[in-house]
Amino acid sequence: MEQTDRSAPSDFIRDIIDEDLRIHRYQRRIATRFPPEPNGYLHIGHAKSVCLNFGIAAQYGGICNLRFDDTDPSGENMEYVDSIMRDVKWLGFDWEDRLYYASDYYDRLYEYALALIKMGKAYVCDLNADEIREYRGTLTTPGKDSPYRNRSVEENLKLFERMRAGEFAEETHVLRAKIDMASPNMTLRDPIMYRIKKETHYRTGDKWCIYPMYDFAHCLSDSIEGITHSICTLEFENNRPLYDWFLNESKIENPPRQIEFARLNLTFTVLSKRKLIDLVEKGIVSGWDDPQMPTLAGMRRRGFTPEAIRRFCERIGVAKNDSIIDVDLLENLVREDLNEKAPRVMAVLHPLRVVIDNYPEDLVEEFDCPYHPQKPEMGSRKVPFSKVLYIEQDDFAVNPPKKFLRLAPDREVRLRYGYFIRCTDVVKDANTGQVIEVHCTYDPETRSGFAPDGRKVGATIHWVSAAHAVVAEARLYDRLFRVANPLEGDLDYLDHLNPQSLEVIHLAQVEPSLAVAVPGRLFQFERIGYFCVDAFDSKAGSPVFNRTVTLRDSWAKLADKK
Ligand code: ATP
Ligand code: MG
Repeated sequence: MEQTDRSAPSDFIRDIIDEDLRIHRYQRRIATRFPPEPNGYLHIGHAKSVCLNFGIAAQYGGICNLRFDDTDPSGENMEYVDSIMRDVKWLGFDWEDRLYYASDYYDRLYEYALALIKMGKAYVCDLNADEIREYRGTLTTPGKDSPYRNRSVEENLKLFERMRAGEFAEETHVLRAKIDMASPNMTLRDPIMYRIKKETHYRTGDKWCIYPMYDFAHCLSDSIEGITHSICTLEFENNRPLYDWFLNESKIENPPRQIEFARLNLTFTVLSKRKLIDLVEKGIVSGWDDPQMPTLAGMRRRGFTPEAIRRFCERIGVAKNDSIIDVDLLENLVREDLNEKAPRVMAVLHPLRVVIDNYPEDLVEEFDCPYHPQKPEMGSRKVPFSKVLYIEQDDFAVNPPKKFLRLAPDREVRLRYGYFIRCTDVVKDANTGQVIEVHCTYDPETRSGFAPDGRKVGATIHWVSAAHAVVAEARLYDRLFRVANPLEGDLDYLDHLNPQSLEVIHLAQVEPSLAVAVPGRLFQFERIGYFCVDAFDSKAGSPVFNRTVTLRDSWAKLADKK
């Protein structure tokens, strides 16, 4: 066993593993698995489980398998399998050659079921779903034995074989474990092991018409793969005795153990797969990879980085009690990461024309602008400057309120990486009165960003040269839900959708270096936020940018620090 890493996180799961190692509970090395069902895309909650399982394996010099838990033909498909593999890799984890499918174990699981029948530990039951529920009893009253509970082994074997052969209709027969209908733990009241489903499975086709249930399939799949620690979410805590029962009755030596942790809940977000499917199918979002989705595909398209997501998972840790994490934490970690990595460029989302009256008509200067003021290694690019510019409408006010230090009539500001300009005149739309153009003069002595006479300005604003700018689309994403917990209260979660979750700006003006921005690349638009070049819709010459996160604070407020 490799030395454990001291800087690695510690939590109750790692404590259990440390103790198991100390008492030599497992001769083999630590083995975990990430077991998604391919019936949807991975979301940020899954990322917590991926980081935990792969993280523990790495920390203890063990292995982590990727296993598709594909025991229910409804809703599972290859598109989901592919997306899950892509997303786990993108997050930065590697299952190497250990890619498994529970559906590859169907023959072996069937053998385990036969063995249980032969031991008198499983029986075929003809009750229908309603009757089974009725017989199961409640939390306060014991259940009743099924009238089919005491069938002979021979009869059970015959019936189970006929179930497999497709002789019975769905919901007419199930195979059940024979445990205890009076158990205080409801999951032990003769749970179903197999049900009939006459559906084509995306991998096994029509070979099977009986499919194993999670509780039966999962523990044995773990055992087949030599998993030592089977980490799952808290809702399976009651199922742990059943997990152990199947392994014990199947005479598995040195069985894996199940450990439960609290699933991730995030404010302003829903993470249930069923609800995410709903958002996709109802067309509320454009697909699983819509940047508003909490899926890894959506977050990637939005510009979240795997590093930020991994750091988030590390930061929240694992615990045994349910809680809801503030989505701000995730956004802050994205900001922190992009603050280091994203080149800084200039883009104007709501353009206002500025004409510099004393600037020569045909002159074009090229300013060499660094991509990151603190990181010269990130290089620089040339940004053209000319007589007509665009600035943000917000950066100009005809009647500036008290704390407004940006451009206003007869006021001087600094242009980022450029000259001081002073506003001399304003052109208004004759009908609406709206300012449509601002006239300025520039001071040629301020090319360095400072005035030789030492005079100060109240603000530095960004700009693009009108003749050189590229028209771009900017998609400003906000939270998909208006309330912190869309699942709370009497309303349906869809009633809490944020109507302003997406604002599309069609005619943003961006600096020419962005004309050929590579899909997936991340930028900081100075003073505005972080943006990601859309992986699908962006084209050379007409770029599309998704806002990843807004900026916390902008350097414009730091007036005279250039
Ligand atoms: P849902 O319950 O939303 O339909 P699921 O959890 O059943 O989805 P799976 O594909 O079975 O989806 O999940 C794969 C693994 O990811 C499981 O081990 C599960 O416990 C874990 N997981 C799913 N959601 C979360 C979450 N919100 N936080 C942490 N782990 C999660
Ligand atoms: Mg599940």
